[in-house]
Amino acid sequence: MAIQVLKPKFHVDECLAEIRECLEKGWTGLGFKTVEFEEAWKKYTGHKNAHYINSNTVGLEMAVEILRRENGWQPGDEIISTPITFVSTNHAILRSNLKAIFADVDDYLCLDPEDVEKKITDKTRAVMFVGYGGRIGQLEKIISICKKHNLKLILDAAHMSGTRMNGIFPGTLNGVDVTVYSFQAVKNLPTADSGMICFADDQYDAIVRKLSWLGINKDTYARSSSNGTYKWMYDVDYLGYKNHGNSIMAAIGLVQLKYLDEDNEYRRKLVRKYEELLKDNPKIKIIDANYKDECSYHIFEIAVPDRELVMGKLAEQEIYCGVHYRDNAEYRMYKDQMGKTPKAHELSEHILTLPLHLGVTEEDVVTICKTVNEVVK
Ligand SMILES: *Cc1c(COP(=O)(O)O)cnc(C)c1O
Repeated sequence: MAIQVLKPKFHVDECLAEIRECLEKGWTGLGFKTVEFEEAWKKYTGHKNAHYINSNTVGLEMAVEILRRENGWQPGDEIISTPITFVSTNHAILRSNLKAIFADVDDYLCLDPEDVEKKITDKTRAVMFVGYGGRIGQLEKIISICKKHNLKLILDAAHMSGTRMNGIFPGTLNGVDVTVYSFQAVKNLPTADSGMICFADDQYDAIVRKLSWLGINKDTYARSSSNGTYKWMYDVDYLGYKNHGNSIMAAIGLVQLKYLDEDNEYRRKLVRKYEELLKDNPKIKIIDANYKDECSYHIFEIAVPDRELVMGKLAEQEIYCGVHYRDNAEYRMYKDQMGKTPKAHELSEHILTLPLHLGVTEEDVVTICKTVNEVVK
């Protein structure tokens, strides 16, 4: 059977039972399971605030937009970000009329603190950090830099569901202003599409709850009517979006969350096998992780001299790899950043994502590594 690079595993019967509850109750939208999922996520991660939304993409957009409005950032102000990411990360910056300035990456394919510091100008307002593949990289150094230069820190935690650092969820560290998770179809905690936005600041959390639902503010009137007569009455505070999550997705999320740690442990087992079988090949560079025993390992990459050759040979056996990601400066939209991050550019030409998910067995890893070692000499 063919092996895909990413593939979700759902606990089907349990998911259906949770969804059935929504259907029988006649409540599939905002509220009910979305509230339950937010509470479960807070309990699991230790985040003080969690707001359930329909994707990580819209979460990053709202994160940047709220920080921009509340802090008076001007058009053309800059956010330092990574070129090795899914394009949602950087689009969120442009969406708010700000400039994405790329800094180079380190050996974890996360932002390199030294280059970040070099890219700071008097227009820099924030840093956008991607926990690449679930890795923490040098996040702690980035936090110190942000504190020193009075910059906000946004954590794109699309890959980080379940990642810990000595038992702590990195998004909860003091100095991270907002963390955005993805529960998209192939992420570690798959639903179909959804995400969670976790602000450290309660006020920002209150704003995002309004902004994600057309700017509607129900609190003012809800408080003034004890018997619920004025339930229909509300004010509109912002030109908001329709970005909140729904109960069907939350129903799936609640079930999948129960298995997240177990699933991530399985991913780590496969990674250990990959590393054991590839580490002695001098032509293969394994993209390393720190806190390896607590990493979610959303993806596992190696860098090889000839990527096409390896992908082709594996495809002959119906084993499909991926590339995460092309240097974003190669996209027309970000071409002004071309040439500014040489290490990221070089690596992006050679990285290869090997299959890693709940449907891959240790025997599959042996088969894959055998081919890779035969091809890469
Ligand atoms: C998947 C992904 C996103 C977008 O997540 P969605 O929930 O699909 O919007 C953003 N950033 C990174 C790094 C991703 O991998």
